[in-house]
Amino acid sequence: AKEEGPGLVRSFEPVMLYARQLRREMASELRSAVERDELRLVYQPVVDLVTGHMQGVEVLVRWQHPAQGLVMPDMFIPLAEESGAILQIGRWVLRKALEQLAEWRRHAEHREDFHVRVNVSAAELQAMDLVDYVRSVLRDTGASPQELVLEITESAFVGSGDVETYSMRSLKALGVRLEIDDFGTGYSSISYLRRLPVHTVKVDRTLIADICGDEGQLKFVDAVHQLIRAAGMEAVFEGIETQQQAGKLREMGCCSGQGYYFSRPINEKQVGTLLASGSRL
Ligand code: C2E
Ligand code: CA
Ligand code: CA
Ligand code: CA
Repeated sequence: AKEEGPGLVRSFEPVMLYARQLRREMASELRSAVERDELRLVYQPVVDLVTGHMQGVEVLVRWQHPAQGLVMPDMFIPLAEESGAILQIGRWVLRKALEQLAEWRRHAEHREDFHVRVNVSAAELQAMDLVDYVRSVLRDTGASPQELVLEITESAFVGSGDVETYSMRSLKALGVRLEIDDFGTGYSSISYLRRLPVHTVKVDRTLIADICGDEGQLKFVDAVHQLIRAAGMEAVFEGIETQQQAGKLREMGCCSGQGYYFSRPINEKQVGTLLASGSRL
């Protein structure tokens, strides 16, 4: 920071102190957010790229903060991971999501293939009782394991140890599907693709951002897709924002994707309406 000049450093100091103070306050508020019922869920459809049908939804958490309004997960999930509050939050999200699935069932036509995808942080995967918790929520909500996909971020696999591997194998044995999230952003070895009991790989949106303007990038994404298929897994592409991107991925033979082009995250009522009207996007 010294090279930036004393003036610059001085002018940033109060801001940084304030930011630190805010973070500290937020971390303590986050601990009680679950009990105060301040968390909300939204759902982003994952679609069949060929037919445009909604195959399932990714569950995304929001924090309805009493003073600050709606807080996005990028603002508080890292903090929750640091402070350990993620364990409580993750459990709440999983239960709520499967309760919501049961709710959709009551109102819409029963669709065996519809699934919910829940994000799971590394710390959750490390918790010894994750598998027991998943089993009990499935039992309580009447959801079948095949209806649940757990999205585990790529960085969680960096040096994944015994507990993580045990959790993943047990979840697989239970019938729950596992997915590597944010694929292509980490710096871990790709050898885990063949080693881990994972069903699908979600390619990070930064990889496809430029496939329409950059022929080299398009070729690269094609190769990534082939690699995933060669490892015996299915690929899901996130962050599809334009019709052109969707078209390129379809030409490549990709089957599943999500992004603003198809739908932004929507509320439970909107998902219900979609399900009741044929799920076409
Ligand atoms: P993620 O798992 O990679 O989720 C996808 C994020 O990309 C979501 O942001 C989604 O709204 C956004 N997105 C979807 N389509 C597009 C698109 O076409 N273009 C662009 N630019 N963005 C798109 P969101 O909801 O803000 O979530 C951010 C991250 O927070 C998630 O990234 C995930 O890592 C984390 N997160 C969200 N909910 C949970 C949760 O319940 N548990 C855990 N552990 N993490 C969560
Ligand atoms: Ca995700
Ligand atoms: Ca992702
Ligand atoms: Ca992410």
